[in-house]
Amino acid sequence: MSQPSSSPKTEIIQLCSRHFSSIPLSLSRFQRQWFLTFPRTYGLPDPDSQRIVCVLNSPDYSAADEYAQRHFWLNPSCRSQRYNPSDTTTKYTFLSPLHLLLDSDCPVARLTGRIRSERSNDPHDAGKEIACYEVEVMAPDEGLLRQCYYCLSWEARGSTNVRFSASGGSDIYWCSSCEEAGWVHSTIRKFRLQDIFPWSNADSEYPKDNLYSPNRLISTA
Ligand SMILES: [Zn+2]
Ligand SMILES: [Zn+2]
Repeated sequence: MSQPSSSPKTEIIQLCSRHFSSIPLSLSRFQRQWFLTFPRTYGLPDPDSQRIVCVLNSPDYSAADEYAQRHFWLNPSCRSQRYNPSDTTTKYTFLSPLHLLLDSDCPVARLTGRIRSERSNDPHDAGKEIACYEVEVMAPDEGLLRQCYYCLSWEARGSTNVRFSASGGSDIYWCSSCEEAGWVHSTIRKFRLQDIFPWSNADSEYPKDNLYSPNRLISTA
């Protein structure tokens, strides 16, 4: 497989603002879906369980591939549904995703000025159309926070700053231990894990956030 050593180690971009009490946020993407994420674990009981702050858009398949790598339509009704009152980090889900994304001391994204309407994902809106804003991401791909497709661990866990490398194409990444095990073993392990903790089971104590299958984060009921 490709060696990460050939490319310089790029830092994960951080959105910092006085509004989030100096807790930085990061940006993540899987194909055409964008997420605000936590680049650190902040001592959560299961560090992989709450790394997605909110989903930012509904994937738009009408745009050209290259354009979609840098642009998306921010749908303000896309946000995390989960809320744990004892966890101080979840309070950010009540701030507007637009505000969280754009109000950073070092800008990583900007509005293009284009607006269009999309259906609201908020069940309280009963399917009404809301304004969505086109966003251009200025951060490089390497600046996005990555998740391991196989074991669902995230970069920047603990004190390590090891970056995950691409596992084939299609925006799939893997951690060093899954990369070492190889995709056959990692796939078997992934599906065994799914038997024990099916992602659909929202009752399991600390379901892991999953960039690759984020549907349960979007309001549906
Ligand atoms: Zn602000
Ligand atoms: Zn892994």
